[in-house]
Formats: sequence, structure tokens, C-alpha cells
Amino acid sequence: MKHYDYIVVGSGIAGLNFAINASKKGKVLIVTKKKIIESTTNYAQGGIAAVMDQLDNFNKHINDTLDAGAHHNNKKAVEYMVKHGPEQILKLLSLGVPFANKNNKLLLAKEGGHSERRIAYVGDHTGNAIEKTLIKSVKNNKNIEIWENGFAIDLIIKNKICYGLLVLKEGKIIEIFSGAVVLASGGLGQVFKYTTNPKISTGDGIAMAARAGAKLKDLEFIQFHPTALAVKKMKRFLLSEALRGEGAILINSNGKRFMKKYDKQGELAPRDIVARAIYNEQKKGQVYLDISHKKPDYIKKRFPKIYEELKKRGLDITKERIPISPAAHYTCGGIKVNLKGESSIKNLYAFGETACTGVHGANRLASNSLLEAIVFSSNVPKSNKIKTFPKTNGTFKINKQKKFDLNIEKKIKNIMWQNAGIIRTKKDINNAHKQLLLTKNNLKLTKHNIKQYEIRNILDCAVEILKSSGKRQKSLGCHYVI
Ligand SMILES: Cc1cc2nc3c(=O)[nH]c(=O)nc-3n(C[C@H](O)[C@H](O)[C@H](O)COP(=O)(O)OP(=O)(O)OC[C@H]3O[C@@H](n4cnc5c(N)ncnc54)[C@H](O)[C@@H]3O)c2cc1C
Repeated sequence: MKHYDYIVVGSGIAGLNFAINASKKGKVLIVTKKKIIESTTNYAQGGIAAVMDQLDNFNKHINDTLDAGAHHNNKKAVEYMVKHGPEQILKLLSLGVPFANKNNKLLLAKEGGHSERRIAYVGDHTGNAIEKTLIKSVKNNKNIEIWENGFAIDLIIKNKICYGLLVLKEGKIIEIFSGAVVLASGGLGQVFKYTTNPKISTGDGIAMAARAGAKLKDLEFIQFHPTALAVKKMKRFLLSEALRGEGAILINSNGKRFMKKYDKQGELAPRDIVARAIYNEQKKGQVYLDISHKKPDYIKKRFPKIYEELKKRGLDITKERIPISPAAHYTCGGIKVNLKGESSIKNLYAFGETACTGVHGANRLASNSLLEAIVFSSNVPKSNKIKTFPKTNGTFKINKQKKFDLNIEKKIKNIMWQNAGIIRTKKDINNAHKQLLLTKNNLKLTKHNIKQYEIRNILDCAVEILKSSGKRQKSLGCHYVI
């Protein structure tokens, strides 16, 4: 029987930061389903928001967050996050994150919905710089053990108490136990046909928690990023909001700017407004993002990763406009937790994108997610001393006789994109809910295999999104119903 003080699922910013802090109190195990670096965090481009400039103040950041979230936010959580933001940036600096600076003064970027410049960044690959720095710190820590290629299947629960996890590792199912189990397993973008999220974002933590009976919250609020590369047969690649922050414009198929028609903040309006405006303009034809009016050297220096990635795909952002379209980007809701990360199940905690502290309300303000993840995952609970551990019955039943239909994944993603996408109708949501509930009831896994587990998780998350969407009859934030 394997026992740790803390078990953490996930090695993004939330999981790694939690592990570093928890290692001061006990023995920590990080279980992560691929290589340690593989996370959404590693792909974050724009940066991390915090009040770091004299012109800025906490109230402005709080108000911007509440405005973006359509005031559906948990105000206490917003205040907590904003007030603890600066100390987390200083901590990341002290660990070695090379944030852009001039003469040791941070350079701060501006993004949509922010009334001041407050985004600390490392070129256009902030997430990768943070991820690498945290990994270095974790790897040097004797109190932290790391299991790469370890897939968390389900929580071990008895009488509403979480005792541990079932993990698939090297073809075997292993039971691991702890007085504090932490889900830091990221978001669920892979539920949708088009997403900016990496392959790992299959909502595993949210699905596991749902199956265990934990309370979920606000799952109808899926943020669609307005500007993902949209070229046929090419993977959607994010074109950071920071591009618009630095002057990129949106133009429609007639070559005209259109954003001022939809919002006085133009291209820097909150993401849901920009995404819907693009969706509307797309009815007339392709929409483009254009920053080619800026000097090529500046673009290459400020956005090296985006420049390179587009170049690899035969596009030159310094010379031409880039075809774009919205894509599922961020899960505002998730496992309901309080400011300490406690879920509704004893000994079960959640941090980062998989959790719902209520900080984002009905829509997330740009660059607040890395901040939320690091602020709240710095709160380490006491690990409960558990004397006896429950016997587990392995996991769910496997039906070895049947053949598993891998096409189910594609079907779920199409249904979700068409019925729970940028613009929703009550009828579509209800129909999709009924259809996917039926699929869920008929789903039979045929072997212990990561792909099948992930499809089960995508399906469970899709059903939960549709359930919450069905309950919210009126539009709010990024849940837009006509
Ligand atoms: C392209 C892109 C750009 C972004 N840019 C920004 C930005 O500039 N600023 C900002 O604030 N936010 C940004 N975001 C959002 C932000 O990156 C994420 O919200 C944040 O990184 C989430 O961190 P996390 O630690 O919660 O999860 P993640 O970083 O996604 O980490 C989740 C971890 O859990 C592991 N995992 C998942 N399921 C299992 C399982 N079953 N078993 C074991 N391990 C598992 C994964 O492998 C991974 O290691 C961006 C998102 C995307 C997609």
C-alpha cells in the first residue's frame, strides 16, 4: 500500500506550485499523465496579471475582473486573488522566471478588459518559462516524488471522504492513499471540436470529482477565445490577446475593421463580446487578425513563438493578415471549492483551472488564470492522519466482449461545438443533453486504456456542461443563449 501526505494530480502551474509549498509540510507525490512539462500552462502565451505598476491599484484590478465576469464572481475570492497577486509575481521572480524588464523594472503588457498595464510576461511564452522554472524547483526537492505517465482514473471514496486514487501506470492499476488528495488536472477544452487546449485537457479531474459526488459549479461558462488560427487541416493555434493589446486589429472579409460596431473598447473588449462579434462577421466570410502595420523587427522580438509557429505553417504575421476563428479556451467553472481549495468531499482539494473558486464569474479576464492557479495553490491544508484505509473494488466494470467505438469522441465534440458553443439555444442544449445522456448510459469500456478513460471523462464533462447550461435560461457572460 502506497501512502503519501499529499497526492497531487497534475503538473501544471497549480500542481507544481502546490507540491513545492506542501513539501514543507510532508511527503508529496505528483501523478501526471504524460511528461511532467505537458500541461496547458506550458502553452500559455500572454502572461500573468497582477498589480505591479504605480498607476494601477487593487480596486482597478478587482473591478476589471468583476466587469469581465458579469458580476457573477465570488467577490471575496476576487479580492483575495488580486491582493495576493504581487507577492506571487515576486516569488516567481525569485525562483528565476525571466519576466520582461528594463533596468530591473517589470515591463507590463495590456490585454482586453484590463484598464491598466498589468500583465507580467516572458516574450510570448510566459507559461513555458513558469513551467520550466517550477519543474526545476520540484526536481530539486527531496520531499517530492514524481510519477510521469501515471493516469489518475478515479478517486477512492468512502462515506463522502476521499482516501486516495486509482492510477494506471505501466499497464497496472495501483491504489495510492493520502490524507489530502489534490486535483490540479486542468481544464476540459477537448470536449469541443475546436479548442486552443492541448490534448491533455480532457477534464479528467472534473469528471472524477463528478463521479465521486463532489459539487461542481458554473460549468456552463466556457470561454471561447476569439482568435485562434483558422486554416483548414491545421490545428487551432492560439494568437494571443497580447497581439491586440499591442495594436493588432480585426478585419472582416470586406477588409473593414468592425469591432467598434460591437463595443466601444473595440478590439480590446472582453473576450465573449469579441468572440461573438467575430462569429457574426464570419457569416459574411473569413475574419482576419492583422498586425502587419507594426515594424517586423518589433513583432519578431515581442512575439517570437507566434511568429515562428506561423512561419512553420507557411504564414508571415509581419507581412500578412492571419485567418482566425474563435475556439474553446478556458473552463471558468469546475469543482466547487472555497478559498482554501476545499471541495464538498472531505480530504479532496482542487486548484487551478479544474477548480471553481468563483474568481472568474461568468467569464474570465485575460491572464487571471495563471494568477488564480498560483495564488490559491499556495494554500496548503493539513494532511489528515488516516488510520485505516478502505478496501477498493478496483474500478468500474470492463466489458471485454464488446468493441469500443472510438468515433464516439468525434461525435461528442461535434455535438458540443454545435449545441453548446459560442451562441446557444435552449432547444439545442436540451436536445444535446438528452442525446449525450443516452450515450453515457450506453458507454461500455472494453479495456483499461487511457484513450477510453479520457473519452469517458470528456463525455461526463459534456453532460455536466449541458446540465448546467440547461439550468441557466438567460444569457450571462460567456453563456450566450438566443
Ligand atoms: C494556448 C493557451 C494560452 C493561454 N495563455 C494564458 C495566459 O497568457 N495567461 C493566463 O493566465 N492563462 C492562459 N491560459 C490559461 C492557462 O494556461 C491555464 O488556465 C493554466 O495553465 C491551468 O493551469 P493548471 O495547473 O490548472 O492546469 P494545466 O496546466 O493544464 O495542468 C494540468 C496537469 O494535469 C495533468 N493531468 C490531467 N489529467 C490527468 C490525469 N487523469 N492523471 C494524471 N495527470 C493528469 C496534465 O497532464 C497536466 O500536467 C492559456 C491557455 C491556453 C490553452
